[in-house]
Amino acid sequence: MHQKNLWQETSKEKITFGNLNKSITTDLVVVGAGFTGCSAALFAAKSGLSVALIDQKIGYGGSGRNVGLVNAGLWMPPETVENILGLDAGVKLNNALAKAPDLVFSLIDNYGINCSAKRSGTLHCAHSEKGLKDIQLRFKQLSERGAELELLDKHQTEQRIGSSKFFGSLFNKKAGIINPLDYCLGLAKAAKSNGVNIYESTLATKIQSINNEWLVKTSEGSIKAKMLLIATNAYQKPIEGLNPSQYTSVQYFQVATKALPLDLAKSVLPNTEGCWDTASVMSSFRLDADNRLIIGGIGNLGHSASKIHTNWARRKVESLFPQLTNIAIDFSWHGRIAMTDDHIPKILRLGNNAYSVFGYSGRGIGPGTYFGKAVSDCLITGDENFLPVDPLDNYQEPLSRIKGGIIEFGATVSHLL
Ligand SMILES: Cc1cc2nc3c(=O)[nH]c(=O)nc-3n(C[C@H](O)[C@H](O)[C@H](O)COP(=O)(O)OP(=O)(O)OC[C@H]3O[C@@H](n4cnc5c(N)ncnc54)[C@H](O)[C@@H]3O)c2cc1C
Repeated sequence: MHQKNLWQETSKEKITFGNLNKSITTDLVVVGAGFTGCSAALFAAKSGLSVALIDQKIGYGGSGRNVGLVNAGLWMPPETVENILGLDAGVKLNNALAKAPDLVFSLIDNYGINCSAKRSGTLHCAHSEKGLKDIQLRFKQLSERGAELELLDKHQTEQRIGSSKFFGSLFNKKAGIINPLDYCLGLAKAAKSNGVNIYESTLATKIQSINNEWLVKTSEGSIKAKMLLIATNAYQKPIEGLNPSQYTSVQYFQVATKALPLDLAKSVLPNTEGCWDTASVMSSFRLDADNRLIIGGIGNLGHSASKIHTNWARRKVESLFPQLTNIAIDFSWHGRIAMTDDHIPKILRLGNNAYSVFGYSGRGIGPGTYFGKAVSDCLITGDENFLPVDPLDNYQEPLSRIKGGIIEFGATVSHLL
């Protein structure tokens, strides 16, 4: 199957920018135009800073490849976050990210972002009895912290999904689905309308700190700025003068069927919730705006065994929804997730008024948008309390290549069975 990214092929927020081919001076330079960079640029410009945002292409990284589930919090249950960070820091991060879907959907509303947004909720689906215990635990912990969730039994879950495969599910009605690339492009458009200078086909190649200012050399120009944000997450292209971001690279792929005919579409996710399951080799599924079914799982489509993943996806479609047996699959694509050892996103202090943000560990729509805004608030005020996690001066990700390889091997074996 020839790889084609559904979001690129069906994007409605068409917008492109020229490259930077001269030297400019600005208050803030943002390297990387995904959710994090676009959000930071937008909020900084709204507060009156002059901003330059550069990338090879808006949404080239994870932001243009993901599933589009706008969820609250991180992947981990909130108590785990509190145990890792300590109670105060954990509560701060949990509270911040509980509100992240509100931030995302309010930006979509306020700027009229054309990203097929549906705030129809998400379902975390129990794939086994063990998975049911997992979502019961999450329901308890999240409810105790004020989240409005519903625990659905097997029958209710079957009615919502149109599949009898799950033991129950956790419904979050405040979450939803978007076309992630269009959301990212819409954020860039909003940033542009607030005065951000955006340059595509423009990579940062070298970064230097000179007399308390930052000099970012780019492919054909340069930017002098008082403040710097590196928002390159799992897609960092080498930049001289900057240590490569430290994370474990985990690949996640998706396939999308052709648009389901109306009679079949009615039997699959009639309320259009976005879904993911409790399996350790996780999978996700949702409909897009044209009723294509999108199924995803851990796996890299860039190696010779990638057929194992796409064959699994076809079997998965048919096992969840037997009525879709033999449906054509029109799209397949994959992307890199930046996973950190403890699955907590990191903010690195790079020097005076300069940060790098990465490691959303697979949940970056809400967190990326939130962290981008928070870094902008911090740079404008000089107050690091705005940051949802304490910034670090150093971060090392141990054994990242080995861990990434083990995860890919495990996913391949699991998809073979
Ligand atoms: C397949 C997949 C599915 C996912 N599904 C979900 C989901 O359903 N829900 C969710 O919340 N999260 C999901 N995520 C996670 C989410 O997509 C990411 O966390 C998020 O996109 C990170 O955004 P970002 O802006 O930090 O980085 P990115 O979107 O990766 O952007 C980084 C940008 O930096 C640019 N860049 C790199 N080097 C340079 C350089 N030298 N100069 C200039 N620019 C540079 C890149 O070109 C890239 O565009 C998924 C991720 C993947 C890969």
